[in-house]
Amino acid sequence: LGMKSSIPNLTHHTLFFEHSLDEHIDCIYADKKWPEKPLFYACCPSKTDIDVAPEGQENLFLLMPLATGILDNEETREEYLMHMLERLEKQTGAKNLREQIVYKRSYCVSDFVQDYNAYGGNAYGLANTLKQTAVWKPKIRNKSVQNLFYTGQLTVPGPGVPPAIISGKIVAKEAIESDYKL
Ligand SMILES: Cc1cc2nc3c(=O)[nH]c(=O)nc-3n(C[C@H](O)[C@H](O)[C@H](O)COP(=O)(O)OP(=O)(O)OC[C@H]3O[C@@H](n4cnc5c(N)ncnc54)[C@H](O)[C@@H]3O)c2cc1C
Repeated sequence: LGMKSSIPNLTHHTLFFEHSLDEHIDCIYADKKWPEKPLFYACCPSKTDIDVAPEGQENLFLLMPLATGILDNEETREEYLMHMLERLEKQTGAKNLREQIVYKRSYCVSDFVQDYNAYGGNAYGLANTLKQTAVWKPKIRNKSVQNLFYTGQLTVPGPGVPPAIISGKIVAKEAIESDYKL
């Protein structure tokens, strides 16, 4: 979101975890439905970086973890955006955030399917189930094509920025140590 005025009492990273974490987790993993009392993360990089929004304005990113494969039509996205803005107003004392929006873009489950062919529209790669853990994770080295390596969150060691970087480091080491010559 691009907001036309500054939001008070908000930092670069703010977690809105006022409600039950267990209930939200059940909506993601057990019930696979939109949460009634969602928890969300607000990232407001304009609080620390003057280059990401015009002076006096705000660059705001709201992230709400969701179940895979759920229906995410425009109406539902809008409903949850309004809910998150109300929570922001309540916690920060900001007023009329809805009217402050100068730019809006939502990105949800169906966008991950459309743009990345992501299984179930997931954003974080493989779930950490037993069969997708440790030695059962997809291998870094291709089984058939010699000297073809994979790197990133879908292979070893797993999802998240730090593991994705470590994955690149492992592949670099493997590639350097392999006997492949150009
Ligand atoms: C909303 C969201 C929030 C997140 N928050 C966090 C967080 O707080 N902390 C954390 O640690 N992780 C977080 N992650 C996860 C983290 O972003 C990923 O785990 C990490 O970026 C994965 O790195 P990667 O290199 O595997 O994939 P990517 O970063 O997706 O990089 C893949 C690259 O390959 C390119 N590409 C794809 N297909 C092709 C092709 N055919 N040819 C050429 N190039 C191609 C893409 O354009 C892209 O640049 C978050 C992810 C999302 C979606």
